[in-house]
Amino acid sequence: MIGETTGTCKSGSHRSFQRAMSYHPWRQFLRQRSSVGLSGAFTAAGGLVYANRAQAPPHHWHNHDLFSQAQNARVSQVAPWQANNQGVIQIPNAGLPGEVLQAVENYAAFLQSLLGQVIAPSAAGTVIYDPILDQIVYGASGVAFNRPRQELVNQRLDQFAHFAGGTLVPGRGPDECAEVHALNWALFLGCQEEDLHVWTFRVNDMRPLPRCANCQITLPWGDYAKIWTC
Ligand SMILES: [Zn+2]
Repeated sequence: MIGETTGTCKSGSHRSFQRAMSYHPWRQFLRQRSSVGLSGAFTAAGGLVYANRAQAPPHHWHNHDLFSQAQNARVSQVAPWQANNQGVIQIPNAGLPGEVLQAVENYAAFLQSLLGQVIAPSAAGTVIYDPILDQIVYGASGVAFNRPRQELVNQRLDQFAHFAGGTLVPGRGPDECAEVHALNWALFLGCQEEDLHVWTFRVNDMRPLPRCANCQITLPWGDYAKIWTC
């Protein structure tokens, strides 16, 4: 047992019991490395990222909570996510667990060190945080699943058999997105969707990245504690 819970998830208030989590950079680095299928041979290079973290936030970190205006039409469908007078939508971060941003910042620095090598120049990264089970997991787009495919993920992906070409995004399968890889790992650890906080970003510019048409099916909005990046 992990502790008592209060409230219910489906009414919009997720379970409120949370462990006090301390973020362990090295432990999280090992997970970040695993998310892209790298093993010990890469530890030295990745370790440097962490050794230098105090001096080197990821490039374009100042963009991390500011949507690209190309995404406004999609993002403004969510009530608190509204453009300011410059037309820029900033994520309202009240209630955002601090672990999420810390993990996003570190994972982004790690992924930026792999751009054009292990991951594509246009790759996305996802951080999923579960405050109930005290877990942070990661996913990058265009890499292999790093854990066995979970039943729920298979169920969601099976739905794409109804669509021409098996996808709603031409040229990209529903199993390729960063979100799906992170979700699969969370489920592998026994996480419940209703507890999860999700944050997805474009690695090269740090912009928050709303779910694509495929991910709107594989990660349905109402099933989660919060998808911070829509
Ligand atoms: Zn997607």
